Amino acid sequence: MAAADWPLQLVQQDEQLVLDLASDYALGNGLVLRPLPSSPGAAPSLTSAIHAPYSLYPSAFPRHLFEQARELQPAYNELYARVTADDRFLDRVVGGAVSKVDEFQGRLYEIYKQVQAEGIKQPLSLGLFRSDYLVHAPEGADTKDYAIKQVEFNTISSSFGALSTRVGDLHRYLLANGAYPTHPSLTRSALPPNGALEGLAAGLAAAHKAYGVDSAVVLMVTQDNERNAFDQRPLEYELVEKHGIRLLRIPFSQLRTSLSLASSTSALLYHPPASASSPSDPLEISLVYYRTAYAPTDYYTPAEWSTRALIERSLAIKCPSIAMQLAGAKKVQQVLSSPDELARFVPDAADRARLEESFTGLWPLDDSARGREALRLAREEPERFVLKPQREGGGNNVYRGDIPPFLDALEAEDAKRGLEDGEPRGREGYILMSLIEPPKGVEQVLVKAGEATGSRVEVVSELGVYGVALVDERTGELRLNETVGHLLRTKAATSDEGGVAVGYSVIDSPLLV
Ligand code: ADP
Ligand code: MG
Ligand code: MG
Repeated sequence: MAAADWPLQLVQQDEQLVLDLASDYALGNGLVLRPLPSSPGAAPSLTSAIHAPYSLYPSAFPRHLFEQARELQPAYNELYARVTADDRFLDRVVGGAVSKVDEFQGRLYEIYKQVQAEGIKQPLSLGLFRSDYLVHAPEGADTKDYAIKQVEFNTISSSFGALSTRVGDLHRYLLANGAYPTHPSLTRSALPPNGALEGLAAGLAAAHKAYGVDSAVVLMVTQDNERNAFDQRPLEYELVEKHGIRLLRIPFSQLRTSLSLASSTSALLYHPPASASSPSDPLEISLVYYRTAYAPTDYYTPAEWSTRALIERSLAIKCPSIAMQLAGAKKVQQVLSSPDELARFVPDAADRARLEESFTGLWPLDDSARGREALRLAREEPERFVLKPQREGGGNNVYRGDIPPFLDALEAEDAKRGLEDGEPRGREGYILMSLIEPPKGVEQVLVKAGEATGSRVEVVSELGVYGVALVDERTGELRLNETVGHLLRTKAATSDEGGVAVGYSVIDSPLLV
């Protein structure tokens, strides 16, 4: 990588032309979202679309770090498969303080235990994972010393597989069409192919086949009023067209009265709304794929909790099972950063070293020696840290100077409640993490729908690598272990958070340098 290529500054004379080509390509190729509804919480229009937020150019990303992240994925798939299968570990790590101070984790954990006590009907679960990284480039470091550091590992509802594939296509099109300025680094071979959409759909197909009933269908469960429908539908189209498998895409809230278990087998049955002319037979569900159910707000009423429990008790394969969802807790990521804990799951020292290289500092916030160290660091040098709850979906973290007053507030709540002996403190539901320091001075044009020009700003990019794992939860063995594609999300450097759906970042693609 030549020094002059990083950061790569693209200077464009007639950017409006590129913007117009990009916008048409996005609208013409399904790089789209449903428009914002007229009032918050209302249903978005079902008959129109706007383009998804994208970057006008691909962002330079060190080739060796991109490859390293991809090569790590099978080891991460295996690690999280083993964690999913390890009841005692989940009991200790999630069933301890976390499930007691975090009501949401507590409810998930409760269902996990209930189903276990009843007896697991389906030992297989499907992971459509995404491991997210930032490039760590501390002040003064040479580019060859840059490293990838893991932000988090997602085990539920890893999104943007389809749209990220399309943004890669968009950038390839703009290059092929001569819309970009010439630059020695900007070549077709520097834009890696992205098999995310195809690979995630193939994962769904493999799980369906493992279920073994040809007439069964896959159920995708979504949030109500989902705007990101066109990241989800393409998975259905792939399944139908390439694999000959039907997929029903249904909001969580509509499952309250339409699911049941077959009495002898516990097969999950979906009862379609009967029309006057044709009463319909129930459909057997092979696989339940969640694009919801990861946030407390996804459970609109107690009925969603009942639906979740019913599905969990069924014979259907789940993507993910509750055990696999719990394995994705940030608390688990923190515990795995301790060498002894990692060694339980990864016996091979070389594999362990490769994984550890991608960890940044992670601390518990309990009363252990490391927990006390974390409290001191968080109070004395908060600028170096982010504090995270056990949440998904973006917008939940506490950064830098906000950490000490946040800890004060948690302590005040503990004091108000009056802790019994041995009862965990509120802060034990959180972890502390070193802030990764991405390269500075990188520019990009972020394009959001309705903005005629896009805005050229200094940015930070987060790389996600998609992994597919079909896991036998009795043993932690993998029937399938694959790396299928990637996502690059880019945000203004001034923003701490990085979610696309929550409006912080845009979908990008890597230009390998
Ligand atoms: P979520 O599950 O809600 O996506 P993340 O752990 O991914 O939670 O955190 C959200 C965002 O916060 C990330 O996309 C990233 O932009 C930022 N972030 C998280 N951890 C770090 C870190 N250690 N260093 C720098 N930024 C971070
Ligand atoms: Mg997450
Ligand atoms: Mg994230």
